[in-house]
Amino acid sequence: MKNKLLVSACLMGFNVRYNGSQKANLTARLERWQRAGRVVIHCPELAAGLETPRPAAEIVAADGSDVMRGRARIVESTGQDVTPHYQLAAWLALNAAITGQCGAALLTDGSPTCGSQFIYDGRFSGTRRPGTGVAAALLREHGIAVFSEQQIPALIKWMEQREEQDDPV
Ligand code: SF4
Repeated sequence: MKNKLLVSACLMGFNVRYNGSQKANLTARLERWQRAGRVVIHCPELAAGLETPRPAAEIVAADGSDVMRGRARIVESTGQDVTPHYQLAAWLALNAAITGQCGAALLTDGSPTCGSQFIYDGRFSGTRRPGTGVAAALLREHGIAVFSEQQIPALIKWMEQREEQDDPV
């Protein structure tokens, strides 16, 4: 049963973000699920071989699903095209979710990889736009429910429903 949760490593307090920071968001629920063995911690960009720290990267005027279809690019703030690295990151996130039996993912919003509600517009001006990163898009396309750190109540509901299905009274 796919009752586990794939969680962005930076949300769990690991310093794996492009600038070497983390975005710890360890709610009591998340800690409880971790103790129960229901959390799979993963950083798609690190898994794809990107280093920390690394230049900021943004999807250029498109969204993660466009990148995965080869219709858009991801570039670093240096101008370098890193699209293949990020496509690999997305596939590795999907692989981690499938092998880890994850039916849902809690991913850091705003990232060109993990963003699920918003991303940045590719101009490195701090301008947000609605959209998903590459991993969030691919996970959703494969039936995995994706939540951002702003959606913890909805995630708790999803996890509780899954618990009830696994352990009917
Ligand atoms: S790829 Fe995802 S898990 Fe890794 S640092 Fe970026 S937002 Fe965090």
